[in-house]
Amino acid sequence: MNQTFSSLGLSERSLRALATEGYETPTPIQARAIQPALSGRDVLACAQTGTGKTAAFLLPLLERLEMTVASGRIRALVLAPTRELAAQIAERAAAYGRGSRIRTALIYGGVGQRQQEDALAKKPDLLVATPGRLLDLMQQGFVRLDAVEIFVLDEADRMLDMGFIHDVRRVVSALPRKRQTLFFSATFPPAITELAGQMLVDPAQVSVTPRATAAETVHQTVCHVDRSDKRGRLVEVLRAERAERTLVFTRTKHGANRLAEQLSRAGIVAMAIHGNKSQSARERALEGFRAGSIRVLVATDIAARGIDVDGVSHVVNFELPHVPETYVHRIGRTGRAGATGRAIAFCDLEERALLRDIERLIGRVIPPWSAPG
Ligand code: AMP
Repeated sequence: MNQTFSSLGLSERSLRALATEGYETPTPIQARAIQPALSGRDVLACAQTGTGKTAAFLLPLLERLEMTVASGRIRALVLAPTRELAAQIAERAAAYGRGSRIRTALIYGGVGQRQQEDALAKKPDLLVATPGRLLDLMQQGFVRLDAVEIFVLDEADRMLDMGFIHDVRRVVSALPRKRQTLFFSATFPPAITELAGQMLVDPAQVSVTPRATAAETVHQTVCHVDRSDKRGRLVEVLRAERAERTLVFTRTKHGANRLAEQLSRAGIVAMAIHGNKSQSARERALEGFRAGSIRVLVATDIAARGIDVDGVSHVVNFELPHVPETYVHRIGRTGRAGATGRAIAFCDLEERALLRDIERLIGRVIPPWSAPG
């Protein structure tokens, strides 16, 4: 499927904005979701971060807003689970909406609301928000959603993981019934499938797997270890690698906490991030990681999804994922923008079969780790 952006029916203005961004061809999610969304259909999309999903919903959303006349009311709402993600979406809306007259406002919790009240007073067409602060502002009468024509729910599964599903339902109940809904989630546990079923009418269904290209640009090795030696070995490896900004993946939140504590005790500054942590704790960890004061972030897959940090030097799979695509997705966090990243997988005896599945997916055998010379 070799589509171009212009074959998807996008306007000249959008095409110019995309050219400015340097995007040449649509990603698979864009190739499949943009047309139905542009035509006004509901969309149910299964896609992770990194697939180009943001443009897949923003491009049609912005175009549909441009087709109708500004009413001075909020005509489109994008809900996102975290402040970082909401900010990224608003930033992307400005980029993809370059040359349009669409006004965007961004609201999220954890900061004073005054500036957000001012932004709302300027009568935005598009509102990008996290659910808790949005409900606060609605209750105080700063926001009305009864003119919303297009609603996007981004990272629905993470909303669930962070305990926001009830808030999401309350927001949805304030929206007009007649509207277009674009529903995005990376995974579909039963509660999410149910929510989608309630919110969508005859949706176009679109599903993509993460890009497998990271597997080619990242230097990958595997450490075969006994399960009981994993932690000690990780300390050794991180020291030998002189790893600067390292993302370590564990399967459970609990495991992430314990590992971060043990690394810190061994003198390697580490923090865990996952859905149980408060927004401000997550923010602090991320800022420290960006600034270099925290060398290691220990994360679960769901928590890591919203993180966009450049300059990750190493990705460690402390536990191998059960779904091989997840491995590819994890290691794609390093080696971005031409830099070579290093990915190290820890594999104990029970994980051998998982390693073989991964090797089958990426089409090669991962060589054993040795200390860099
Ligand atoms: P997302 O999955 O929406 O977080 O997007 C992942 C990254 O891919 C972002 O940095 C986008 O700027 C970039 N991106 C999105 N669509 C394209 C495209 N068609 N070509 C090149 N890069 C893209």
